[in-house]
Amino acid sequence: MKKFVSDHTPAIVVPILILTGSLLFNHYWSDPSKTQALGGYLSFVAAAILIWVTWEYVRINQQTLSLQKAQWEQQNKVVLRFGVRRSHGKAQLWIANIGTADFLISEMRVRVRAEKPIVRNERRVVRAGTRTFLSLPETLWDREHLISTFDVRLRYESQQDSGVSQARGFTLLVGNASQVIKVTRGIDDSALWLVNCPKCRDLAPMVVDELANLDEAAERQKIMESELTVSCPQHHSQWMDSVEQLRNRRATHEHDSAKED
Ligand SMILES: [Zn+2]
Repeated sequence: MKKFVSDHTPAIVVPILILTGSLLFNHYWSDPSKTQALGGYLSFVAAAILIWVTWEYVRINQQTLSLQKAQWEQQNKVVLRFGVRRSHGKAQLWIANIGTADFLISEMRVRVRAEKPIVRNERRVVRAGTRTFLSLPETLWDREHLISTFDVRLRYESQQDSGVSQARGFTLLVGNASQVIKVTRGIDDSALWLVNCPKCRDLAPMVVDELANLDEAAERQKIMESELTVSCPQHHSQWMDSVEQLRNRRATHEHDSAKED
């Protein structure tokens, strides 16, 4: 009822006013001074309604405009996903465009721990709704034995939007003859991450599970270094990897995979 009234206010108010006006006019038409006052009053009411209707119209138009703008921005936003897959014994980057705007990948930045990042200029257009593949630097698995960890960041450009993606970490398991055997997302807990005690330079392994990229790893390393400094020479840290912790993690992993089955 309330909604009906608010939706149809002009359609209700205007006929009521016309009706009231005609009734009053019919009643007082014989008295010229009263009809004049009535006429003045009614034109004031008409002007007020006109202003109100105009204001409503402007308000609704503005709402529509901001809605259209939001829609337009949404449509032109770059929405990309990427990952690493194994292909013919090598690792390869896949990039998916799940938005509605085409975009260009203009740069790929690969970081390996404690090394200068490898920056490659790219000129790859990814059309909306498609996926493309880029080769990764072969040094990621050529020189490494067993485990290789790195993260990737992509620079993208479209007509309306440009920026840099978040860094995503990956771990490669490398076998004989530099063959990539397995790819996992994030920094795998089989990776050995040694941290120096800043005070005595002793080495201690860091827990690396659930790290999404090298920035997160660097942050954790900083915490561990300060904890090692404080506790030197005993060396205690919440992030120090130990045999028990490793065993615990293996147990939870097995537990998780048992649940999946
Ligand atoms: Zn120390």
